[in-house]
Amino acid sequence: VTTSSQDANLTPLMRQYQAAKREHPDALLFFRMGDFYELFYEDAKIAARELQITLTARDRERTQPMCGVPYHAVDGYLSRLLRKGYRIAICDQMEDPKLTKKIVRREVTRVLTPGTAIDTAFSAGQNNYLAALHRVGDAVGLAYLDLSTADFRATEFRGPEALAMALDELGKIAPSELIFAASEGWANAPEAPAEVAQVKTCSALEDWIFAAEYGLPLLERQLGAQSLDGFGLGGHTAAATAAGAIVHYIRATQKSGPEDQGPVHVDALYFYERNEHLHLDQVSVRNLELVEPLFRDTEGDPTLFGALDECVTPMGKRLLRASILRPLMDAARLEARYAAVDAARQSLLGREAVRRAMDGILDLERLLAKISLESAGPRDVLALGHSLGRLPELQSSLLQMGASWWKQTGEGLDRLEDLHSAIEKTIVAEPPLTLADGGAIAEGVDAELDELRTISHSGRSSIAAIEERERQRTGIPSLKVRFNSVFGYYIEVTKANLAHVPADYERKQTLVNAERFTTPELKDYEIKVLTAQDRSVEIEKRIFAELRRLVLSHAARIRRVSVMIAEIDLLASFAHLASLRGYTRPLLESEPVLELIGARHPVIECLMERAGTTRFVPNDLYVDATEATPEAASAPHLLLITGPNMGGKSTYLRQAALLVILAQMGCFVPAERMRFGLVDRVYTRIGASDNVARGRSTFMVEMTETATILNTATVRSLILLDEMGRGTATFDGLALAWATLEFLHAEVGARTLFATHYHELTMLAEQLPRLGNLRVAVKESPKGIVFLHRMEPGAASKSYGIEVARLAGLPPRVIQRARQVLKQHERSERGNVEAETAPALQMTMFTPLSQQILDRLTETDVNTLTPLDALNLLHELKTEI
Ligand code: ADP
Repeated sequence: VTTSSQDANLTPLMRQYQAAKREHPDALLFFRMGDFYELFYEDAKIAARELQITLTARDRERTQPMCGVPYHAVDGYLSRLLRKGYRIAICDQMEDPKLTKKIVRREVTRVLTPGTAIDTAFSAGQNNYLAALHRVGDAVGLAYLDLSTADFRATEFRGPEALAMALDELGKIAPSELIFAASEGWANAPEAPAEVAQVKTCSALEDWIFAAEYGLPLLERQLGAQSLDGFGLGGHTAAATAAGAIVHYIRATQKSGPEDQGPVHVDALYFYERNEHLHLDQVSVRNLELVEPLFRDTEGDPTLFGALDECVTPMGKRLLRASILRPLMDAARLEARYAAVDAARQSLLGREAVRRAMDGILDLERLLAKISLESAGPRDVLALGHSLGRLPELQSSLLQMGASWWKQTGEGLDRLEDLHSAIEKTIVAEPPLTLADGGAIAEGVDAELDELRTISHSGRSSIAAIEERERQRTGIPSLKVRFNSVFGYYIEVTKANLAHVPADYERKQTLVNAERFTTPELKDYEIKVLTAQDRSVEIEKRIFAELRRLVLSHAARIRRVSVMIAEIDLLASFAHLASLRGYTRPLLESEPVLELIGARHPVIECLMERAGTTRFVPNDLYVDATEATPEAASAPHLLLITGPNMGGKSTYLRQAALLVILAQMGCFVPAERMRFGLVDRVYTRIGASDNVARGRSTFMVEMTETATILNTATVRSLILLDEMGRGTATFDGLALAWATLEFLHAEVGARTLFATHYHELTMLAEQLPRLGNLRVAVKESPKGIVFLHRMEPGAASKSYGIEVARLAGLPPRVIQRARQVLKQHERSERGNVEAETAPALQMTMFTPLSQQILDRLTETDVNTLTPLDALNLLHELKTEI
């Protein structure tokens, strides 16, 4: 930091720079100088590196590194830096350099941060969240806002696990920026929770910003509410203060609008509690590849979002993503959605008409946000107008569907025709990029504007006429009337023709080859044209500001429409999927059952179809966690699945979870039939998670995840356990898996799928009445095994590990040797442990040739050998010597 005494040696300009920088020490300062934004010192080094632009210096000694970007191209650079997690302060010139003799006054006009950015290139289906986390006593509040869509949510957790649960939710939201009170001490601390450390940009704010006395009234004002109870925040101080801190932060960074108002489009907050949704923790979201692929370089899009996304509007895409992460728990709402999807599925024409009507509707939420934050130009407002213009068609297509939900929605849809016609009437059909260019406002809107335009137009044609007339009068054919911004209009005459210049010409400027003149007449026209232009841009700005205010006064209506469009789009896309891929309507039961007939994995099926490869093999599933009664024969609630690797076990497990998620989103499912009772939480313990990368052993991660399941699952949960115990020695693993199964059976009683390679576990079915065995069907052929990807009742009879290894191309000698070791091991298991293990332990990995020949001979059944086979065998053995 530069001290004031050092400042004394600086130029006035650099002193101004230092003052601005001192106010925003943690932001890259973009300092406007003429046509460039310049960065200095450390900021310059960072920007040059991140943006790949040349680093120069202001002084010869190179003590003042500097780099810059042209002002008209600044947006692209800003969004690149924001995406990398930097904060940016924009310092603009506050007066016209032409009008001041002294140094231009400069001020920081905007602070851009990753979580409040609205101009970065977002993907349409994604949100850009700023989150706040705050603890009050044993409660932890989490609030998050996407300023670019005004999606504002808050939740709160209580009890000893509150922080862990809040962090899990934070991980799922994956905000690009997080704020918290400085007293949390997480800013750069190594002990910051992993979910906090994962957020690119974290800011510790002063504690008073999180005080209830400050935050709650601020939040009330932002939401225009007398009390927060109406938003469900009553009694949830932790959530409300977190939300209040968010409001504080956006007001501090976005310097638009009257100080007291804040961005007007942020006018609602949605408070939710965990039990309102099917709970999916971060681990499951990742393992099931709901919205992000597990491995970045996977070909195609292996996510559920990718497979389902048939939405036509950005609002629909965002709702789809949110619905995948938070499926419903409300039977009535689900039934209503099924009914709506069913109706649209049956009406191809109706559905297509609705989808077509939505096709031209742009991102209403983001357009509104831009208008509210004063970053919208005439083109944005016109785009909003065009989108609103689609509403009447959307409404009539909805009404034509006839069926109740669609019809009701159509009746409730605000066509916003008043706003649409106001916009279309005010803005020209092809507006310029900015207002300063002039010509954005249509003719007929303002009488004075029209008159000024006529003046400036006729002025310009008069000037053209002057040129012609003066050429005639002076007899100088090369005489030109021209314009530049310094001298205005002038008559230019080349040196050779100076003799013909009339006396009434006033000299203005001398060039090498020519002289420039003006006349009183030309001056008159110049003043007319220029003042008319300036004045009309002024009027255009005023009219545009009025239009902007008009749009904002209807912000709530636009937001309501946009929420409805999201819902319409979502359900229409579900109907489209249902008919496109033969999805069926799930049957919702009150008992905790899960029955699937002819079910397919929605993502793999879709990828297979796109690739045109083999068809996906449908499978059945039946588990029932209804409490067993002595009378009723009890069905299994726990399935133990055995079979070779690559047989399709994980696919089968994931498929069950994905179908439950789909059904609880109100979507139809890829199955001939699905019957199920609501699931409160999906637990997955599948494969290695990327926690391993953070230094915890696979086994530790696996056990922690298993502990969570055993301690918190309810009878309504769905539990998927894949290959438990793999991370440790065989016997430990088996023992743990065994005990876990018993506990799941006796204590938890949830619908559970347990895939394992421990064949020993299948014996448990004899002792545990509600455990069923399933195995992967395999066809054994002379060439090896073939996976049928079909599940059938029963336990796998043997392990196929060696067969699978052979398919994978392990050298034949290794395969052969593995078979021997296995055989010896099995023999030892059968009893005479003492006799066999000692030599077994001494076996070398690659046996001498004599042993191989011996083995071949022992394997051969001489009784069934034909004479020709015998000869061949002898020949083979001989060639091996
Ligand atoms: P496991 O868990 O038993 O090792 P996976 O579930 O990983 O096996 O499946 C192995 C491979 O078989 C995957 O490439 C998967 O796409 C394919 N597969 C699994 N189930 C099916 C099925 N029902 N129909 C077609 N292919 C399947």
